[in-house]
Amino acid sequence: MMNTFRYLPAIDQLKRDSVFTNLLKTEAISDKVLTDWLREQVDIVRTELHDHIIPEEKISRKALNDRIFNRLTEKVRLFQTNNLQPVINATGVVLHTNLGRARLSANAIAHISSTAASYSTLEYDVQTGERGSRHDLVEEHLTRLTGAEAAMVVNNNAAAVYLVLKALAFEREVIVSRGELVEIGGSFRISEIMKESQATLVDVGTTNKTHVNDYADAITEETALLMKVHKSNFKMIGFTDEVNTEELVHLSTEHNIPIFEDLGSGTLFDFTAHKIGDEPTVQEKVAAGIDLISFSGDKLLGGPQAGVIIGKKEFIDILKKHQLARVLRVDKFTLAGLEATLKSYLREQEETEIPTIRDIVESEKTIHERAETFIQQMNEQEADFNFDIQEDTSKIGGGTMPEVEMDTYVVHVTHGKYTSSQIAETLRKKEIPIIARVQHDKVLLDFRTIDDEDMHTLVSAFL
Ligand SMILES: *Cc1c(COP(=O)(O)O)cnc(C)c1O
Repeated sequence: MMNTFRYLPAIDQLKRDSVFTNLLKTEAISDKVLTDWLREQVDIVRTELHDHIIPEEKISRKALNDRIFNRLTEKVRLFQTNNLQPVINATGVVLHTNLGRARLSANAIAHISSTAASYSTLEYDVQTGERGSRHDLVEEHLTRLTGAEAAMVVNNNAAAVYLVLKALAFEREVIVSRGELVEIGGSFRISEIMKESQATLVDVGTTNKTHVNDYADAITEETALLMKVHKSNFKMIGFTDEVNTEELVHLSTEHNIPIFEDLGSGTLFDFTAHKIGDEPTVQEKVAAGIDLISFSGDKLLGGPQAGVIIGKKEFIDILKKHQLARVLRVDKFTLAGLEATLKSYLREQEETEIPTIRDIVESEKTIHERAETFIQQMNEQEADFNFDIQEDTSKIGGGTMPEVEMDTYVVHVTHGKYTSSQIAETLRKKEIPIIARVQHDKVLLDFRTIDDEDMHTLVSAFL
């Protein structure tokens, strides 16, 4: 057996190689870090030699040198690509949980960006020159838009639910319908969050039917809250019954026990006016008399990740004062993004300015035009792919209105040599990854979630 290790170049020698010195010059990486990475690659190649992974006839000083530098160059390339990177969402799913849910409006992006670059009035009142509260930054916008008395914002809706339960139902009972004990996205379970907050879950009714009497019968001295949970990612059909809000509010008033509703997505925009789904708006829920409501910032609202809590001032005041409010507080970027997003609603420009709303209500005509523009541009190029426009449907995603299918146009992509999974993989591995929809072994580009600004990147991906 030959001693292959003697062909491994020494670190000093590798550092004098032009590949190393060029990387150092062009990639703006420190000598220390690049040397560390070089050592890691040498170690890996040493292990490969030890494990006989490289065929003996291919082992030479030059071959090992190249092998190490190929690895190092790839390592540098991976470093230069951010781990969190932008992608083109060609799935048509507007709130794609794995692709970061809502993308923000231009106003929100600009506001976040300027807030990041400067000092800000995060907790400073310029009128009085005294300390201010970050809660005040968006509270008035939220109360005006929803009709609620008070509002606050925490990290996400899961945090909002946790805070409400901990602050208002610690070691007491919370009555929830069995049909609403949902699990969302595999990591948020009402029963678990209840345990975590040390509130006692009292589930009433059956999976498909709950009557107001079921809640009434479960009320005891220990009842802290009546809770309703939006079923979000699951829709029950058939022989079902849930208590209507009016009856529950009546019960709550009679017994002087507040109602808290986890609305999940929570929309300020009336999608039913566009014949999309049957989601009640947050304002309708407030008007119906629900005491406390929580919802996500980055679902149908179309803003940054956040958990919005609105409702009666007496309860919001308790939440704001709780120690957990400090633990779950949001940063200035979230508040900046949220402030700009809410202002679009106040100016009644949500349909034009907020991408989430715009994409959901987008006309089939516009989507078709985008698909046609893409095909025209591809036809001007010599691409090896074939494209044809087909009618299809897109989903909202994010556990929102799961039953809703919106008419859309997709471009079906085929290639003489490649299978659909090969095409999808090629697109995924582009410098700006393109995430296509693969359905029944077909690669589809849904133009609902593709912007005009994405077109150039999309076209070049096929050349
Ligand atoms: C999405 C959702 C949550 C979790 O919200 P996040 O903002 O993702 O933390 C909680 N409850 C319901 C009903 C939901 O739909």
